[in-house]
Amino acid sequence: MSTALITGGSRGIGREICAAFARAGYDVAFTYTKDEAGARETVRRIQEAGAGALAFRCDVSDAAAVRAMFGQIFGLSVLVNNAGIAFYGDMQSTTPDILRRLFAVNVEGAFYCMREAIGKFLARGEGSIVNVASVWGETGGSCEVGYSASKAALIGLTKAAAKELGPSDIRVNCVSPGMVDTDMTACLSAEAKAEFCSALPPARAGTPAEVAEAVLFLAKQRFMTGEVLRVNGGCLI
Ligand code: NAP
Repeated sequence: MSTALITGGSRGIGREICAAFARAGYDVAFTYTKDEAGARETVRRIQEAGAGALAFRCDVSDAAAVRAMFGQIFGLSVLVNNAGIAFYGDMQSTTPDILRRLFAVNVEGAFYCMREAIGKFLARGEGSIVNVASVWGETGGSCEVGYSASKAALIGLTKAAAKELGPSDIRVNCVSPGMVDTDMTACLSAEAKAEFCSALPPARAGTPAEVAEAVLFLAKQRFMTGEVLRVNGGCLI
């Protein structure tokens, strides 16, 4: 059986990715930082699907902690860099500490996990990495400048790594979700969400399960690499 590692699996999109990979026959390891109860529920969802579950309390922005975690993971064939944080506020309220933290989790965290995963994939002879970017990383989002920049960097990281690792049969792709109903978007007012969604052809937000389907597809698809797969309800048509 192969193992998939999903970062940020204690809730939201990450939990649904864990469940989707478990149903697809993978053993699933995942990270979280704070949400113990959420992590237990994710373990339950993975085991309910008949798969093995491993939960790691690991801050992906801590390179040493990431290295220690990878030492405990065997049979890795897929890495999904889903862990992410957002900050809503204008540029003047985006302090250096906020900007650094956005990049530390959203970009450096993905980089550290990729660096560790690559060693295992090279030994295995193949592997697949899926990064969870954002529509704001493609278009830029007002009052989310730091977040948008971090997701744009993640898209750049994805493409460069796809070129570098392709000859080693390691594929690197990303999904780029639009508005999805999770804790991350819970701070937006109902009016703001409704206004955003009314401009989308389906006139609704996406679900974590819909993003998870796309991640699983990219993880398994063998002739796609360096791709940015949009799961945004037609936001950019
Ligand atoms: P969420 O509900 O806020 O969940 C975030 C997950 O990441 C949690 O499991 C959290 O664990 C984990 N996490 C946060 N910081 C971490 C760290 N330093 N190390 C390890 N794990 C960490 O977010 P979501 O909406 O599911 O978003 C998942 C991904 O999709 C993110 O990358 C986000 O940017 C992206 N995305 C979301 C949307 C959206 O509309 N929701 C749209 C586009 C892209 P703890 O709770 O334990 O800290």
